[in-house]
Amino acid sequence: MRPSSILVLVAWLLQAGSTLGAERPGEGFDVTHYALALTPDIQNRTLSGREVITLRATKDRLRSLIFSGSALSIDSATLDGVPVVVETGEETLSIRLAEPLARGRAVRLELTYHGRPARGLSGSATSLYTSYFACDWMICAQETFGDKAAFSLALKVPVGIDTLSVGRRVARIRTSDGREIHRWTAPRPYSAYLFGFAVGRFARVEERVDARVRAARLVYLSDVADEGELRQRFAETGGIVRFFADKAGAPLPVAAYSQLLVEGREAQEAASYSVLGVEALPTRADEPSQNWAIAHELAHQWWGNLVTSATLKDFWLNEGVTTFMTAAWKEHRYGPAAYEAELAVARGRLEKARAAGFDKPLAWEGHRAAPSDRSS
Ligand SMILES: [Zn+2]
Repeated sequence: MRPSSILVLVAWLLQAGSTLGAERPGEGFDVTHYALALTPDIQNRTLSGREVITLRATKDRLRSLIFSGSALSIDSATLDGVPVVVETGEETLSIRLAEPLARGRAVRLELTYHGRPARGLSGSATSLYTSYFACDWMICAQETFGDKAAFSLALKVPVGIDTLSVGRRVARIRTSDGREIHRWTAPRPYSAYLFGFAVGRFARVEERVDARVRAARLVYLSDVADEGELRQRFAETGGIVRFFADKAGAPLPVAAYSQLLVEGREAQEAASYSVLGVEALPTRADEPSQNWAIAHELAHQWWGNLVTSATLKDFWLNEGVTTFMTAAWKEHRYGPAAYEAELAVARGRLEKARAAGFDKPLAWEGHRAAPSDRSS
C-alpha cells in the first residue's frame, strides 16, 4: 500500500470499528475458506456471483454472523442449506441465527449477490481490477485483520479475456454459452484485504528468478503498456526478489509473483501480486528517489502478507518493516546516499505529521486523521 494511503485507511477502519459496539464484523467466528464464482462486467463495473463461506464458531452460543457491509445486493442466502435472512447496512451485513452455534461448530454459508461495489474496483474500458477493499466486492470480514482463510475464485469471462487472481490458475474451462471459467486457488490462507482479481486484455511478459534455492516466475501484465515497456519498467524486480529473499532468509513465498501495470498512481499489494500505476513508477530505473513502489509492494509478500499484524492497531508492523526494507534495498542498489535520502523522506513525513498534530504512538487505537501525501 502506498504510504499516503495507509493512515487514511486506518482512520476509516478504526472509525468504522468504533461505532459498531458489540457487533463487529468477524467476531465470534473464524472463516476457514472463501470459495467464489464471479461474473464481472467490465463495461459497467458490476459483478454477480455466488460465494460459499466455511466458518467455525469461536465462542459459545454464537447468535449472529456479522460481515463487513457493502453496496452489494444479496439475492439468496442459506446456512447449511437452510434459508437465512440477511440484514444489510452500510457498515455490516448481519445474519441472525435461528439456533445459536456452539463453540467449535463449523457451518457453510452460501450467498448469491450482484451489484456495483462502492470501492475497491477500478479499471479502463478494457479491464477491471480490485484494490484493497475486498469486502466491497465479496462478502468477507475485513475488520478482523489477522484472520486468514483459504481462498478460491472462479471467474467467468468472455473468450480472449485474461484473468489474474490469488495464487495459481488451476483450470480454464470453456462453457456452453461460449465463455470461459478461470479457476484460481491461493497457495495458503491470507487475510481478506489481500484477496483480489483483475480481468482484461493484457500484454504479458514472464521471467524467471532464482533466489535462495527456489526459483519463481515473475509475471508483468498491462492493458496500458506493451511487452517492451513492461520489461523496461519492471527490470529491477528480479534483483529486488533476490535481495529480500536473502535478507528474509526465506524464498519469495509464492511460486509466481505478478505485477499488473495500470493507469494512475495505484500501489497496492494483494496476496500473490501487486497493482502498480504508471505514475507510481519511475520513468528511469536508475533514478533512485522515485523508485520505491515495486520494492515496497514486493516486500509485502514477506512482511504483511506472510507475517501479518494480528490487529489493525499494529498495522505499522506491516508498513514499517516494508518501508525500512525498501530503504535497505535502495542502499544495496544505489548506495548509502539513497538510503539517507529515503530516511530524509521519512523524517519529512514525521515533521508534517507533528506539525499537523498527528504525532501518535505507533500502536494506537484512536482516530487518525489523514496525513499529507508523500509526493506533495
Ligand atoms: Zn505498504
